[in-house]
Amino acid sequence: MKLCRFNGNCLGVLVGDGVLDVTPALAVIPLQHWPLAQGDPLILNLDAVLERVSELLPTAPRLPLDGLAMDSPVANPGKIVNAPINYRAHIEETSRDAAIAHGRDMTRSISDWGLFLKASSALIGPSEQIRLRFPDRRNDHEVELAVVIGRRCHQVSREAALDYVAGYAIGLDITIRGPELQSFRKSPDTYAVCGPWLVTRDEIPDPGVLDLRLWVNNALRQSANTRQLIYDVPRLIEYASSFYTLHPGDLIFTGTPEGVGPLLPGDRVDAEIAQIGRFSIQVADRYA
Ligand code: MN
Repeated sequence: MKLCRFNGNCLGVLVGDGVLDVTPALAVIPLQHWPLAQGDPLILNLDAVLERVSELLPTAPRLPLDGLAMDSPVANPGKIVNAPINYRAHIEETSRDAAIAHGRDMTRSISDWGLFLKASSALIGPSEQIRLRFPDRRNDHEVELAVVIGRRCHQVSREAALDYVAGYAIGLDITIRGPELQSFRKSPDTYAVCGPWLVTRDEIPDPGVLDLRLWVNNALRQSANTRQLIYDVPRLIEYASSFYTLHPGDLIFTGTPEGVGPLLPGDRVDAEIAQIGRFSIQVADRYA
């Protein structure tokens, strides 16, 4: 199932080129009182929501996809986990281009670097705009498979890892190039894009075979396949959960392939991942 959040607080299921509006299913999410449970409330209650969705589907109003404002399928992830240098060809381009590496030692691998976090306040859906915080600096696009964690897990093995996935989406890890730590220069507002919907795990039995592509103003900039990941999805879940607990709704951005490059105000970015879908998003100046 392709589950989307749209037009602010609506919930939908993508069917063909339309969206079935199943917003009343959100009523099964219990109200919380402080202190809030760890995890995104929609994903925490996903089984109950999906049960209600299946009851609503036969009579749900159908809306044309065109014209709907798509929000991030996860509204409140506890953390956005990111894999650095996880495709070999991206490591090679980073080693060649001093404007990407900024003096960092690219002979070190993901097992040396570990993972990093983007601020959850950076998260938007494709209906919003990427607002370049410092347009005079280099701001790059990075298309990445985004994994949505479905169940709390800690120290999970790679064999069991996919059991803890709710589903998948397209992620954009927008990045200011420079000397600062990744968690800082990749965390301005709007620098984490997730969309256009959550594809539930049952529809993607193997996340390691997916073509991913990104265009800027219709020019193809990135094209690769997740089979080229150095740490694949199960290994990333194993690795992340060996350091901290993963909660429902936590996002894992799995790393970008080669072809990263600068964005400018006015650009349009199109991102596509096989078995998930595609979205377009506009780039603007922070003050636009
Ligand atoms: Mn990245």
